[in-house]
Parts: sequence; structure tokens; C-alpha cells
Amino acid sequence: MEPSILLVEDEAAIVTLVRYNLERQGYRVRDTDDGEQALIMVKEEKPDLVILDWMLPSVSGLEVCRGLRRDPETKALPIIMLTARAEEGDRIRGLESGADDYVTKPFSPKELIARVQAVLRRARPALDADRLAYDDIEMELDTYRVRRGSRRVHLGPTEYRLLRHLMETPRRVYSRQQLLDSVWGPDVAVEPRTVDVHIRRLRKALNGPGERDLIRTVRSAGYALERPDP
Ligand code: CA
Repeated sequence: MEPSILLVEDEAAIVTLVRYNLERQGYRVRDTDDGEQALIMVKEEKPDLVILDWMLPSVSGLEVCRGLRRDPETKALPIIMLTARAEEGDRIRGLESGADDYVTKPFSPKELIARVQAVLRRARPALDADRLAYDDIEMELDTYRVRRGSRRVHLGPTEYRLLRHLMETPRRVYSRQQLLDSVWGPDVAVEPRTVDVHIRRLRKALNGPGERDLIRTVRSAGYALERPDP
């Protein structure tokens, strides 16, 4: 699943610009122009990162930031402050209030995206790691070793790439065409049905006797790596 971002900003033009650029990068974006509302949305929607404008109409971004840091549930939530203030003192106050990073207006979308990526990488080292894990499946990316529980799983090269792709974003549903494009490459001419064949092989290798099938077939949509409902 793509990281979700809550954008707290009252200037419509900036909301439009930032939203457009983040969505183009695959992020899911929600926005609000109100600090109180932002605190509620964080609780309800559990975003992966908050972009927070300093100057908001009612509660200031700084207050929102402090509020999030005080709450044990959100104290580690990545926050990037957005502000027109370029003064060194303000910068320090912003970081002292608990923001992870700080972007001064006017900024280029490219710069903001780079900050977002850096902060998310720090917050979610799994994205950067040489190891992927989901449920009891583990992939060591440098040695190409795959385990399920304590059992070593042997995969062909296509099944390995397929599993790796699914492990990078568990629960996300991929269509056969999307899997073909990412795993086989967009220039390779193969039938979408080929995906089914390799999914079948992957399941056979992954699912030992009595083990749950972690690959979900989504009717007329595609496949996802997901725990079955108990
Ligand atoms: Ca503002």
C-alpha cells in the first residue's frame, strides 16, 4: 500500500500543487485547512506522514505538532513543517516542537517530495532494508533466500521476482497486467494468463501442508499478498 499523507494547509493553491505532485508519486493524500480537524484525522486515518503548515487560521501548525508529539499514539509520526518563515529562530522552534523536517515557502514540489521520501525512509527502515517480511514469510534480498517459518522455500527466478513485488506492498491488489509490467517488464509479450501459471507455482512452493495461503485471488481484479480472514 502506498504511504498516505495528511496535508494541513489553508492556502488552496498550495494544497492543489502539493496534492498533485504527491499523487503523481503514488502517495495517497488527504487534506484539511484546520488544525483541530487535523488532530482528529490523524487519529482516524493514521497517515504515514503529516505535512503541516505553520500559519493556520485557528490552531497554529506549531500547536498541532506539539499536540501530536504529546500523544503516545502519534509521537513518532513523521511531520514536515511548511512555512513562510525563513528566520533561523523559527526554524529552530519548528524543530524543537518536534517536526522531523522543515520546508520554507516558496519551495519546489521536487524539493518537498525529496524531503517526504527522506523522512519516510527514516521512519520506515523496512522500505530500505535488505530483508522483506510479511506474516511468516521472509526474503533476504542480498542472498535470494526465502523462508516460511523455519522452512526454506525454493523459488524459480520468476516466482522470486513475483513474490518480492508482492512483499514490497502487502495487501495491495495488482492486476495481471500490472504484475506483467513490473515483474516481466513492459516490453515483454506474454499473455496475462501467464501470471496465473506463476502464481500457481508460487503458491505451491510457499504453502506447505497445513499452512495458510497468503496469496489472495481477487476475482476479476488480480492478486495480493494478504492474510486470509481468520
Ligand atoms: Ca497558511
